[in-house]
Amino acid sequence: MFELRAPSLILGGIGRTAQGRTRTICVTGGAGFLGSHLCTFLVESGHRVFALDNFHTGRRANVEHLLCSGQFSLVQHDIVAPLPDDLPAFDEIYNLACPASPVHYQSDPLATLDICSRGTRNCLERAVRDRARIFHASTSEIYGDPDIHPQPESYWGNVNTLGPRACYDEGKRFSETLMYEYARRHGIATRMARIFNTYGPRMQPDDGRVVSNFVIQALKGEDITVYGDGSQTRSFCYVDDLIEGIIGLMASDEPIEGAVNIGNPVEISVRTLAEIIIEMTGSASRIVYRDLPQDDPRRRRPDIGRAGTVLGWAPKIALCAGLECTIDYFAEQIESGGLERGM
Ligand code: NAD
Ligand code: UDP
Repeated sequence: MFELRAPSLILGGIGRTAQGRTRTICVTGGAGFLGSHLCTFLVESGHRVFALDNFHTGRRANVEHLLCSGQFSLVQHDIVAPLPDDLPAFDEIYNLACPASPVHYQSDPLATLDICSRGTRNCLERAVRDRARIFHASTSEIYGDPDIHPQPESYWGNVNTLGPRACYDEGKRFSETLMYEYARRHGIATRMARIFNTYGPRMQPDDGRVVSNFVIQALKGEDITVYGDGSQTRSFCYVDDLIEGIIGLMASDEPIEGAVNIGNPVEISVRTLAEIIIEMTGSASRIVYRDLPQDDPRRRRPDIGRAGTVLGWAPKIALCAGLECTIDYFAEQIESGGLERGM
């Protein structure tokens, strides 16, 4: 049985007890993979949480366990429209709404650009109105196919503006600029994390991301689809570590300018990831090779020196421990028929 492990450091330290009062918090994209873990953590910390989601890639099932808490509201809303007026003033806004997997953000590139531009701006307008602190989920994709390795925040990136990934990469770059300009013009407190590949329970089974694809394929005994020759690398962060980093970033009262990389610096090739998952699941699946998607970054690894210095944060969960929880989760979903029901 999968159990959500609340990040103990935060529950005991940076959460409600440290801040001393219950806050009213908006989480856009709250029914998605990361958003649902963030909402769970915030509700467990005693806060009043409003999750705004249009259910494009998120699911009510991801936050079902919070609905009877009395502290959680799930509001169907598309952030490309201004945030609803009939909700209370927010102390904090976490802007996570945006499809994150290449399959989903490329399925409607113009919608992705709208979410990153108008959507982010609507969240910022609300932050100005409520004098709320605002967090934005940026991404390692703003580094594109990086020439500098590992990637520090000072690296400006290498993004193809005209490729299939550009709607997301350039959209997120534009969002960062919006955050920067709103902070300068309106003096609001802004926080930005550049999130590197994150995995864990509640990843969408159909979003084509490498960890969910490989785990589901291995559990079902299907071929494991490695794109290209599998020598491209990624650095995978378990979701609990990521949430701890985000909460720490938002809770810090230090003025934190610019973005902070949040990710796990342990880098592995996609082929090695496939081999590890086959071994951990005891699967008879074999590896097959498929075409590498256009503009697929060759390597990616965060330099997390800044997160260590300004937040005292570093990931703690080793890949095998995180994969074990993720495999257990998907095994349970397959057994209960959850994958077929769209979870
Ligand atoms: P996800 O697709 O599971 O969640 C996104 C959520 O946003 C979904 O619930 C979706 O329904 C909602 N949404 C999409 N468009 C919306 C709109 N217009 N209005 C309201 N809600 C909308 O993705 P995730 O992995 O949870 O990612 C969350 C955030 O973190 C995204 O902004 C993503 O870009 C960022 N991020 C994630 C990763 C990762 O590895 N998961 C890496 C880098 C950045
Ligand atoms: N990938 C793969 N097989 C899959 C899904 C993805 O080999 O079934 C590769 C993909 O080409 C990329 C890496 O795994 O090199 C990570 O892909 P993902 O979509 O998870 O994240 P991103 O490319 O956005 O880092």
